[in-house]
Amino acid sequence: MTPAAEAEAIILGCVVPLKDVETVAVDQAAGRILAADLTSPLDFPHWDNSAMDGYAVRYADVENAGTAPVTLEVIEEIPAGQSPNKTLAAGQAARILTGSMLPKGADTIVIQEVTQRQGTQVTILEAPKPEQFVRSQGSYLKTGNSLMAAGTLIGAAEIAVLAAAQQAIVPVFRRPRVAILSTGDELVSVNQPLQPGQIVDSNQYALKTLVEQAGAVPVLVDRVADDPEALKGAIAAAVHQADLVISSGGVSVGDYDYVDEVLASLGGHILIRSVAVKPGKPLTVAQFQTCLYFGLPGNPASAMVGFWRFIAPALRQLAGVQSASARFIPAVAGQDLKAGGQRETYLWGRLTLTEQGYEFRLATGGHSSGNLINLVGTNALARVPVGQTCIVAGSPVSVMVVSLPTADLC
Ligand code: AMP
Ligand code: MG
Repeated sequence: MTPAAEAEAIILGCVVPLKDVETVAVDQAAGRILAADLTSPLDFPHWDNSAMDGYAVRYADVENAGTAPVTLEVIEEIPAGQSPNKTLAAGQAARILTGSMLPKGADTIVIQEVTQRQGTQVTILEAPKPEQFVRSQGSYLKTGNSLMAAGTLIGAAEIAVLAAAQQAIVPVFRRPRVAILSTGDELVSVNQPLQPGQIVDSNQYALKTLVEQAGAVPVLVDRVADDPEALKGAIAAAVHQADLVISSGGVSVGDYDYVDEVLASLGGHILIRSVAVKPGKPLTVAQFQTCLYFGLPGNPASAMVGFWRFIAPALRQLAGVQSASARFIPAVAGQDLKAGGQRETYLWGRLTLTEQGYEFRLATGGHSSGNLINLVGTNALARVPVGQTCIVAGSPVSVMVVSLPTADLC
């Protein structure tokens, strides 16, 4: 049995980030990784503009307004989206709104709250600071400077920046293609009537969702019976068309568990046969020339824990994310967390943010790897290290967040 951290290191040691580049429309770029260093074609701000509603003035005219109010002539009003027509001379001001361009000659904004307007005149009641509320052209970023570096994970903020810089088409790395393959004579799809002994192939649905959430493209392969020849054909095809293959079932030591022998017969180099984790010990990892193969155990909780702990980091690295390893955050155990002590144990449950910080509580009901029912609501896994049989309530515990942020976590 390979220790968990060692297994992760072996996996990440052989995952080469995908370098193929494709382009997407900026509004389709969320979750993608930028594939090129981009420089800005524009100054930010594009021109000097006002950060407030008020009056654009010449500082020299109003620097003593604190001692005696100064009255200026308002020569123009500059709405947002229009360029000023006039240049301020001494004793003049322009009415300006947030985001409007500064007129030539102006260098300072006086907010409207410290002015009195009468017809075409405005009286300034307080002295501003020099250049106050002016957003100067190029003060955020100058044309030709770095806008965004290759490797950046694109989210809403990055999309805003790309759009503002008029990058309508964005170069991104190709998403990993992940073949998902379920094995087992007992499996049927969600809408097939269940015969005695049959169960729904729930792993296929769970793994497809996990793959999509990881930003990869799932490729669903037809379910395969516990038959070495059928399995061989399906695995060979999956390996051929994907960057990563995930199978579930058939990797333990049962009479019908053929995955390992099939992998070896297809020329796969088996890196890992089992990992010292609970649940999910029978995990097979094999390397093919252009593909990494993960054989997860069939039990639903084991399959999901195996994905979260080992496949998610591999997918992150494949997609080009730096520091792809599983991340753990410190939390406090909300109750005793028990384990056997022999293997690194992952307990599923819910992390919430309390006034004292993050607290982890177990999902109620049995923590058997075959029980998928109490996975409902799981947003985190608590880790009990090898050699420890209990993390007592109130003690620190390492936790892996496995769902997208939820209200509980913020
Ligand atoms: P195996 O790893 O093939 O020995 O399967 C272990 C347990 O997981 C058995 O109870 C299987 O019926 C169940 N199982 C296997 N594959 C799946 C699947 N795709 N979806 C749900 N349960 C499964
Ligand atoms: Mg099976």
